[in-house]
Amino acid sequence: MKYTDEFRDREKAKILIKEINKLAATIEIARTRPINIMEVCGGHTHSIFRYGLEGMLPDAIELVHGPGCPVCVLPMGRVDDCVSIAERPEVIFTTFGDAMRVPGSKKSLQQAKADGADVRMVYSPMDALTLARKNPDREVVFFGLGFETTMPSTALTVLQAETDGIENFSVFCNHITIVPTIKAILDSPDLHLDGFLGPGHVSMVIGTAPYEFIACFYKRPMVVAGFEPLDVLQSIWMVLKQIKDGRAEIENQYARIVPEAGNNAALAAVGKVYELREFFEWRGLGSIDHSGVKVRDDYARFDAERKFAIPGVKIADPKSCQCGEVLKGVIKPWQCKVFGIACTPEMPLGALMVSSEGACAAYYQYGGVKKHTAARPDASVAAAS
Ligand code: SF4
Repeated sequence: MKYTDEFRDREKAKILIKEINKLAATIEIARTRPINIMEVCGGHTHSIFRYGLEGMLPDAIELVHGPGCPVCVLPMGRVDDCVSIAERPEVIFTTFGDAMRVPGSKKSLQQAKADGADVRMVYSPMDALTLARKNPDREVVFFGLGFETTMPSTALTVLQAETDGIENFSVFCNHITIVPTIKAILDSPDLHLDGFLGPGHVSMVIGTAPYEFIACFYKRPMVVAGFEPLDVLQSIWMVLKQIKDGRAEIENQYARIVPEAGNNAALAAVGKVYELREFFEWRGLGSIDHSGVKVRDDYARFDAERKFAIPGVKIADPKSCQCGEVLKGVIKPWQCKVFGIACTPEMPLGALMVSSEGACAAYYQYGGVKKHTAARPDASVAAAS
């Protein structure tokens, strides 16, 4: 398949790994500690484990798995809000499939559906709008979730609903923004990061300019990266090269998809429908200023948060859940006390075990559970679970 197969070439991967090894061996900081590179995006985390890239890298490189999976960072209170909307008799609640199993404090959307709520999986917000057209006597709510990657499609659907005069459609907006999140990570005293793999899909919409502060003020390199194995390896090499050269720049490895200026039509739709929230609560990371968007007053009739009374209660994660530490890269997924024991993809305790882009699910799915829990005192329990 064009643009896919050539980026999965085994021989080229071997050459890149050799070059990464050579370069890492010449970097001064690697003599005293690992070079910490964060992949911000959950899509990269998934690729890294799917293709076994982490195990091919030299010990001098530590990949830190960032918070770029929107399903994973959704706090429990917001899931409870979804369930409360979905359980209203007049509502058809629509969502992407990966949000169905995110645990709330009492139940997930999937459990709400089992209990009788009309929750339906859709592939796009436009599918939800079609449902609204077909069910004029019901209220159709779309669960708007994701970074700038998915924001334009919900914004365009709201604009379409306005054009078509559809009043029984609304969005429960949980869209989040990437730049304040990266800034919060850089300001975190827990972390020392030497560089970033930048998110490919988000950058397709926002371009590369919004990341300039990372290079200018924090003096860290970032390489916007594609998702195939050669993309990820080449991007790691590019980050190392910048570190070696003493440079901090924003580079674009994913130029075949990411225009440096972003997508103006998508950004215009987003700017028309949404405005920044003062703050937004993230699972495990707490409240981050200006890290989410809400529906503008002009489109209030399409805002599920205003249309329905929601509990809006902040709920703490279960005590044994260490999603926050994993999200901040402080611990590896397998170091969480309940990884592979009380928390598995079948019965997720934390959100990082739900989505395929979640670091815990990726570790679990691609063999990390056996390799890592074997070394723990509770290994027999893990193996039995
Ligand atoms: S194993 Fe489960 S509870 Fe622990 S960090 Fe991962 S998702 Fe969260």
